Amino acid sequence: MIETDEFRVLGLTDSTLGAIRSKGFETPSPIQRLVIPVLLQDQNDIIGQAQTGTGKTAAFGLPILELFAEKRGVPQALILVPTRELALQVTDELLSFNINKKLSITPIYGGASISEQLRRLAKGSDIVVGTPGRILDHLRRGTLDLRSLHWLVLDEADEMLDMGFIEDVEQIMSHIVEPHRVLLFSATMPDRIKELSKKYMTNVSLLKVDTPNLTTDLTDQIYFEVKEADKFDALTRIIDVTPDFYGIIFSRTKVGVDELVNRLIDRGYAAEGLHGDVSQSLREKILRKFKRKNSNILVATDVAARGIDISNLSHVINYSLPQDSESYVHRIGRTGRAGNQGTAITFISPAEFRQFSAMKRQVKADIRREKLPTPQDIVAMKKSKIMEDLAEIIEGELYGDCGTMARDILQNYPPEVALASLLKLAFKGELDESSYPEIRSFSVDRKGSARLFLALGRSDGFSPRKILDLIVRECDLPASKIDDIKVLDEFSFATVPFSEAERVTRTLNSLSKGRPIASMAKDKDVKGDESSSRKEGKRSDRKSERRKDKKFSKGRDESAKRGEKRQRKSDRKSTAKRSKK
Ligand code: AMP
Repeated sequence: MIETDEFRVLGLTDSTLGAIRSKGFETPSPIQRLVIPVLLQDQNDIIGQAQTGTGKTAAFGLPILELFAEKRGVPQALILVPTRELALQVTDELLSFNINKKLSITPIYGGASISEQLRRLAKGSDIVVGTPGRILDHLRRGTLDLRSLHWLVLDEADEMLDMGFIEDVEQIMSHIVEPHRVLLFSATMPDRIKELSKKYMTNVSLLKVDTPNLTTDLTDQIYFEVKEADKFDALTRIIDVTPDFYGIIFSRTKVGVDELVNRLIDRGYAAEGLHGDVSQSLREKILRKFKRKNSNILVATDVAARGIDISNLSHVINYSLPQDSESYVHRIGRTGRAGNQGTAITFISPAEFRQFSAMKRQVKADIRREKLPTPQDIVAMKKSKIMEDLAEIIEGELYGDCGTMARDILQNYPPEVALASLLKLAFKGELDESSYPEIRSFSVDRKGSARLFLALGRSDGFSPRKILDLIVRECDLPASKIDDIKVLDEFSFATVPFSEAERVTRTLNSLSKGRPIASMAKDKDVKGDESSSRKEGKRSDRKSERRKDKKFSKGRDESAKRGEKRQRKSDRKSTAKRSKK
């Protein structure tokens, strides 16, 4: 079968298939299989029930781009999403498919400059991706024209409900009078969402991905929380501390496989990659090599790993999350076979956290959170491996004709100096703890919250209320999602949902052109926020640099004014929400 045939049978044509090929997708995800044909062939409205991270954007985005008749510069599709981060993610994903028609796709979200958005809308937009509050703002100002709208997509509707945006969504829906199709995606269907769909949707096709009853009996399933950018170093640490690492590493796309293999080879690992573009003869060659353990790392897509029958793997690593729980069970079923004990490891970045939590519930497995090996662990491991190998050579007298050279060296240098230098020559920086890059651990509690460290304290005029205001205003996060703010003299802590933590730190840091002001709190900070005051001295360095940064305080003042209105609204909402409880 040609690589994109499985997408072609859903009704997509060559122009779209080209984009799919360059993304490196191999097969449609379950929600894509359901939604794409209905969206292309019928005129029905659609409710798609699927978890986050399961390929929803392509499920609605590919057909919309395919059906898009012509670029007219007035919005024909509006996609409503709960957060600014998602608005950017969805826009990026749509842009990556937008190779032929070159449509103008504009993200519109709160907390960003409205004048820039006005400029972009005035220039003409074919597709708008936005958060409900800001979209409503533009509708009221008359700066967003929805008279040519063909498609309205509500993405993560239950999350919009959860975040208190559902009234805004309803107001937007009531604004649109022209005939258009409504596509509603939601992981769950609470009553309020059902109500909304009854009121505003007609001839609905309900498309739901069936989740089979899944169980796994593999006991050793663990996960690590790592930032996307740290995944590669985390992976090499795991390989480095495992004496006989022999594993399959899963990546979601062909492009991902190629990138990872190249990086591993550059670092000196014996890695090979398998995906749908690898010819049958090369595939067989690679598998032979892997079976003989001439290479010990196989990076593969789900499709390429089908049918591989290898029973003695030490590890299966989910470098990126699989499309759904079923694929998770398939992936990890490759270890622990035939009575062998293997370990299944999953890397979770903040953006993947919600999908992972849903997956964990579905497979009903006990997946333990673990800490990554430290540089000390790796060096200790390497040293003990060297001692073992050395003992084997000495005891077996396997040093061959190196004896003569050894005698020469020992004539010129003391034994300790000679051996230390030889070790340095052979292992370079590998035995030096400081040569391993730092991977900041951060703490996520069982509710899925992350603790943030902020280099803003009482001495900068911050109180808990002001920290709350800052995060609500700048990061478009409802007050109800921010918890347990603790302000010390020189810095503070706040808890936010893990899935938002990376975005919140990035947004806050973008306010300051100097050193970063926000980061995920280290585990040790979280254990004793109070005792952290002892460390204030160190941290105040960061602050003094930031204080010099006039732009930060200016940015704060301007955005304070901008955000005041939004803040009041958000406060009203969270107060109303709390009083309802
Ligand atoms: P989404 O659920 O739309 O946020 O997608 C989650 C991730 O899966 C994104 O990185 C997509 O590029 C990726 N993705 C979507 N569809 C596929 C597919 N058919 N095969 C592989 N990756 C996909």
